[in-house]
Amino acid sequence: MKSGADASRTPGTGATTRIDLRPPPAGAAPLSSHALQLQRGFPRLKFAGSLEAEFREVHLAETLPQVRRNLWLAIAFVVAFSALTHLVLAAPVNKLLDIIRVALFTPILGIGLAVVYSPLYRRLYPLVSQIGAPLFGIGVTVLAVIAASHGVSLIATVVLVSIYIFFMLGMTFYSALASSLLVFASYFISAAAVGLPASVQVIDGGVLVFTNVIGAMVCYTLERATRTNYLEERLLIETASRDGLTGIHNRRLFDEHVDRIWPQATRDRAWLGLLLIDIDHFKAYNDYYGHQAGDECLRQVAWCLNRCSRRPLDIAARYGGEEFAIVLYDADRNHVDEAARRIQAEIESLAIVHAASPAAVKQLTVSIGAACIVPKASRTYYGFIQLADEALYDAKERGRNRVVIMDKEYEQLCTGAFRKGAPIPRECDVVSRAQ
Ligand code: GH3
Ligand code: MG
Ligand code: MG
Repeated sequence: MKSGADASRTPGTGATTRIDLRPPPAGAAPLSSHALQLQRGFPRLKFAGSLEAEFREVHLAETLPQVRRNLWLAIAFVVAFSALTHLVLAAPVNKLLDIIRVALFTPILGIGLAVVYSPLYRRLYPLVSQIGAPLFGIGVTVLAVIAASHGVSLIATVVLVSIYIFFMLGMTFYSALASSLLVFASYFISAAAVGLPASVQVIDGGVLVFTNVIGAMVCYTLERATRTNYLEERLLIETASRDGLTGIHNRRLFDEHVDRIWPQATRDRAWLGLLLIDIDHFKAYNDYYGHQAGDECLRQVAWCLNRCSRRPLDIAARYGGEEFAIVLYDADRNHVDEAARRIQAEIESLAIVHAASPAAVKQLTVSIGAACIVPKASRTYYGFIQLADEALYDAKERGRNRVVIMDKEYEQLCTGAFRKGAPIPRECDVVSRAQ
């Protein structure tokens, strides 16, 4: 944030959309759970720990529109085949088939529709589909076997229902496979019960075996692809909010975060702390040890700072170049002061030698400028950031390796007029009343 040529130079920062699964370099961020899962693979179609539940939640939500549409399709399927069997089968047989349809399909499809249009969908659908799908399939199979015993082959409807279970209900592979196998078994049980000839059973059984093999293979492949896409998508989102060099949050996420917590803190009348941390004489470090060593040093500092922002609404980010920012929610002056001292102590404990430092201490140090305020609805957060920037400038001016905290100065601060004597462009952090 220091003005001048280096202020705009931020090598290594910014979002990258390339998914890099190599192990992180020393001092950098550990791989996220999504990256780890992608690296390990998931041949059994199951993610580790809470990732599985997270995936299932998202999968359920994403497949809901298709499931709704496909349930209506199932109703159309039942009505159409009912009409067709009425054309080709004798009235007493149709009566039996209609009884099964009304007694079994109506409640299954009715409950299915009620669930997919209910707010309890996510909670109930896995169980309802796990029970409803095989029952529906068994019903279709029993109808087909009865029709077959009267000389009409409806084995195609059993094939259709198996395909339907594998692909149309948003069921996971194992649930769909279990349901389809139950349907498959029900064919032989009902065929034996009505005494279908062995030749018919062999041919129909063969058709159903291939249907299940193909269905299972394609369903497995599709679910693998869906899970891979899910992990890659999450990883891309994560990558876009992480700094490429250090692995901690980047400027983009920092801006979004401050934008989000500013109105929240205004509502809660909560104190906000902002610490801008700048490595002292880092150019000299780079010139003396080389850029690679400089990069490693940035990683170590970044992770040291990251450890200092553990609460849910606190974040540490690389602000740019060798500058970092930490936002502390609900943190008054004492809290901010304590955090700044802890950061200094932690950096000191890294014990990074800086032989080229013009300072007396030949070790890497940081200067910290901190702002501590209770936000007001009439102002934007620009002034807050400028206050921390002014404090950092002050810390540098006073000799570096120190902490300067500003709070009361906020009232007098004129945003855009950085440091005394600078021209005043306009008060850009005052919310316009005309809006
Ligand atoms: P001061 O104590 O006033 O902050 O001095 P300084 O040398 O730290 O500040 P200056 O702004 O003059 O130099 C910042 C240096 O940070 C210059 C640049 O080479 C280095 N730097 C910025 N980003 C990176 C990076 O990603 N990797 C490495 N190795 N160096 C970087
Ligand atoms: Mg510096
Ligand atoms: Mg700097």
